[in-house]
Amino acid sequence: MLQVLNPATEELVATVPAATPADIDAAVARATVAQRGWAAAAPADRARLLRRFAVVVDEHVEELAHLEVAEAGHTIGNARWEAGNVRDLLDFAAGGVERLNGRQIPVAGGLDVTILEPLGVVGVIAPWNFPMPIAAWATAPALAAGNAVILKPAETTPLTALRLAALALEAGLPEGLFQVLPGTGPVAGNALVEHPGIAKIVFTGSTRVGKSIMAKCADQVKRLTLELGGKSPNIVFADADIEAAAAAAPMSFLDNSGQDCCARTRILVQRSAYDRFLELLTPAIEEIVVGDPLDERTQMGPLISRAQLDRVRSYVTEDLKGIRGKAPEGPGFWFPPTVLTDVPEDAPCAVEEVFGPVAVVLPFDDEADAIRLANATEYGLSGSIWTRDVGRALRASRAVRAGNLSVNSHSSVRYWTPFGGYRQSGLGRELGPDALTAFTETKNVFISTEA
Ligand code: NAD
Repeated sequence: MLQVLNPATEELVATVPAATPADIDAAVARATVAQRGWAAAAPADRARLLRRFAVVVDEHVEELAHLEVAEAGHTIGNARWEAGNVRDLLDFAAGGVERLNGRQIPVAGGLDVTILEPLGVVGVIAPWNFPMPIAAWATAPALAAGNAVILKPAETTPLTALRLAALALEAGLPEGLFQVLPGTGPVAGNALVEHPGIAKIVFTGSTRVGKSIMAKCADQVKRLTLELGGKSPNIVFADADIEAAAAAAPMSFLDNSGQDCCARTRILVQRSAYDRFLELLTPAIEEIVVGDPLDERTQMGPLISRAQLDRVRSYVTEDLKGIRGKAPEGPGFWFPPTVLTDVPEDAPCAVEEVFGPVAVVLPFDDEADAIRLANATEYGLSGSIWTRDVGRALRASRAVRAGNLSVNSHSSVRYWTPFGGYRQSGLGRELGPDALTAFTETKNVFISTEA
């Protein structure tokens, strides 16, 4: 049994049975049957059903948002956005069903066409930090491209995923097409990875687990998308609007209590603007409202679990200097907004993913030094560049080795633009105009006109 705790109160929200390898096996058998019928259905019918699914999700945004608050501790505003994001992802994917075009390629003596075929049954392994959106990033385009999906949510956050599976049936999606099987990673997750009936794994989670899944997929040459960790830079050049950069910096790493793979946790500031930036950042951090996720004014909630709290604490040792915000006392997994200063460039808190409300500020000398520091981790997921110099913005955008960059802002994830990591932040891309293609095989067919 999986125990779901409310991270803000530590109260038990629900207990959910954990799937066994036999459960996974039975789910794959059901999905295989459902997928055949789904792939054979007219594109317009598949699109219509996915749009209906989007409408049903839209009708349940408030309910889903409250479930997300209860199991993940997200602020209610974020949770509403997340449920709405699932609706939008389904809508966007539905629009792709009838646009999943192959090509016609000029050849002598015949006609050459490519056909984009569904893979079959796709296994999605999701993390707890954004349970709904991340599950839907893969599920919506996979279904739209004609696949069946088995989703294994994280141990701590199965409830929204289970509800989405029920809503899919309510919308009229065929039985077995989209199944949610909560369970532990090493048992249910691993059973999906090793199952020969699963054509592709989409894994979002830690780089450590991602590497082990990649190795196991190699055994069957199983298709794989990996969305892994990050330690993203927020580069502030002295010619930037320093007031704007300092005002935007807190929520760029405190949103979702820092449990965000794109969190800008390495704030790199040009030395000549360093003191001014910290002077502006200090009150901004101290004023962040941390507390009850259901209070509309709250900007930051708790961490997901005791284990995560212990992990975050281990990085913020007593000897480290910095800016500390406020956090509630008592039950719940609370940690205050924290910015560490005067840390060595290669300190664990400066290069490892803390996955909590903790950032470091490091000074740099010039553009070359900024790029060197920005690239000085094993990750490459996202990053921000603050400058008024257009040439510098473009040079830095080219030089930072990361998949999702943002100039004079911190936006990075939109369902209609591609998302994914360089280096150890991942493999493959999700979202964007090519989202459906990632769930297809390209078949080339030559038809002779000579016979
Ligand atoms: P995690 O790796 O511990 O777990 C992720 C999922 O994998 C869970 O469902 C878990 O049950 C499952 N799992 C664990 N061991 C497994 C195994 N041996 N076989 C199969 N499945 C297994 O990660 P987490 O702590 O849940 O999530 C946080 C991590 O996710 C962070 O590193 C974060 O950066 C990353 N993340 C990345 C993105 C991205 O898009 N790049 C998005 C969100 C989170």
